[in-house]
Amino acid sequence: MSSANYAVSTQMVIDDETKKIKIDKQVLDRIHIFCQIEKGMPEAGGILAGRQNISNSNLIIEHHTEPMYGDYQTRYRFTRKDLGHLSFFQELYNNSNGTIGYVGEWHTHPEDIPQYSMIDLRNWRKIYTKAETNQVQYHLIAGRKAVVIWKYSGKHLCPVKIACIYWEDFV
Ligand SMILES: [Zn+2]
Repeated sequence: MSSANYAVSTQMVIDDETKKIKIDKQVLDRIHIFCQIEKGMPEAGGILAGRQNISNSNLIIEHHTEPMYGDYQTRYRFTRKDLGHLSFFQELYNNSNGTIGYVGEWHTHPEDIPQYSMIDLRNWRKIYTKAETNQVQYHLIAGRKAVVIWKYSGKHLCPVKIACIYWEDFV
């Protein structure tokens, strides 16, 4: 796991081996709103999308979806069911001539420092298996105190935690 730096205030920058993963602050600010600070707040989630910089293979995450009407949301569970997430992504993909691609999933957890559950792992495995082009996916879980990002690059491998960043250091 590597550290993040906050020198560029409009993005969260994470090192992943030789490349950098950049997440737009606008995306994180929106995700932060759904953090389960209050007792009654359900889990929330959506899709992350971004583009790969061809020259240096850095990844810039600058789009996301938010909970939609057809999603399943309880205190301890978020299931992305509404097809609107995929159609939003499909439109982005088409309008950008395929330069904006699927990056991964995000969802909240009602715990301070989030850890993925077995259900999350099964879901990530399913997504990896179904993906046609992506070799690697990045999934984000937003806890009450920190946001954690995992890289998932193989059906039989465990997700690799690449960053754990405290909200108070960023938002
Ligand atoms: Zn989860």
